[in-house]
Amino acid sequence: MTVTKQISLEDQVKKLALDEGAALVGICSVDSIKDKDFSDANFLLPGAQSIVSIAINMDDETVKKYLSKEDYLGLCHEEGHMTRNLLRIGDKIKELFEEKGFRAFRCNINFNYRNVNNTSKAVIPALKNLIDLIDKEKDPNILLTQKEVKTRDRILKMVSSGFKRSPMRLVPNFSHRCAAVASGLGRVGWSGNVITEKYGARVLFGSILTDAKLNADKPLEINPCVNCKLCEKSCQGGLFAKDETKTIKIADVEETIAKRNNYGYCIAICSGMAGQNKFKEWSTWSPFRLDVDRLPLDDSITEYVQNMYVKALEKGGKEAENVLRLIENTFLGRNDKPAEDFRPTCGFCQLVCGPDIKSKKESHELIVNSGCIE
Ligand code: SF4
Ligand code: SF4
Repeated sequence: MTVTKQISLEDQVKKLALDEGAALVGICSVDSIKDKDFSDANFLLPGAQSIVSIAINMDDETVKKYLSKEDYLGLCHEEGHMTRNLLRIGDKIKELFEEKGFRAFRCNINFNYRNVNNTSKAVIPALKNLIDLIDKEKDPNILLTQKEVKTRDRILKMVSSGFKRSPMRLVPNFSHRCAAVASGLGRVGWSGNVITEKYGARVLFGSILTDAKLNADKPLEINPCVNCKLCEKSCQGGLFAKDETKTIKIADVEETIAKRNNYGYCIAICSGMAGQNKFKEWSTWSPFRLDVDRLPLDDSITEYVQNMYVKALEKGGKEAENVLRLIENTFLGRNDKPAEDFRPTCGFCQLVCGPDIKSKKESHELIVNSGCIE
């Protein structure tokens, strides 16, 4: 007699994820994290019951070369391909649920916000037009027509008032971090990034929502964050308050993490608009400084950041192109863009946090000795 062993749907999903290249996979219930606006799965899939959280780890050698400023594009491509792979694995898991008769939704990975007004997409062709006109004006052999000058001024005014209304805190369509914590993939560390036992913070997450009611995994009992605070020491922006803490709760797990200063500090640095602020001996990968010696150390940073985009557009060239890329990513998402188009300039708070304390210390040394991009 042949005995056929029944494999549970949970095990089938996990096996599929690992076979397709996920490094980590876990499951949580929608109810365990629906208390926050950005982690309520019903926003994307009404009636959702469970979430599958998946992660792919970064290659440590590629990260090292990025942190030491030996190689920029290696990590850009790595993160771009990881994003593509998370989407691909997510689609396979979605198909599996659908084959079994359940509904499922594969979330996008990044640059997907609830509080970004989609009607503002029209700003993108206008921005391209503006940058063309500004670049043209900088050419000593070209004189703008009166009509072109009027167009330039009109778009600049429109864009500048649009930036002034832009929210500093973008709310994701779905928080992969909350799902990862609830599914036992990692715990939130001092930096606010999710720290895994095996890879530290060097992972990207994806999430698949389904109306199948699955057996959930448990959050990790021990937080892998070792409180070394090297994340804070690697942040040019100064996003993390030095001594003040904040308590957060995800899936009934309470964490004490660094209190965050104004998000404008990260936006100014991580967006690539300013490659330096707190530390003068080294920079991020961004060559831009936007004529400031130091970002304002109070809440006027919000206004500074809002004006910063306009100043960059007025300069034209690469700085204006950087603004265009940011706005395109924010309004259109970046999930459909080619992997090669991924262009981080910082992310040091995440990347410094390697798999063990030796790697974290070495990574911090690489950052502080990596010099400045001019
Ligand atoms: S760098 Fe250190 S303190 Fe910061 S999150 Fe990682 S382990 Fe925690
Ligand atoms: S991405 Fe860079 S600027 Fe932003 S919080 Fe992390 S280290 Fe700071």
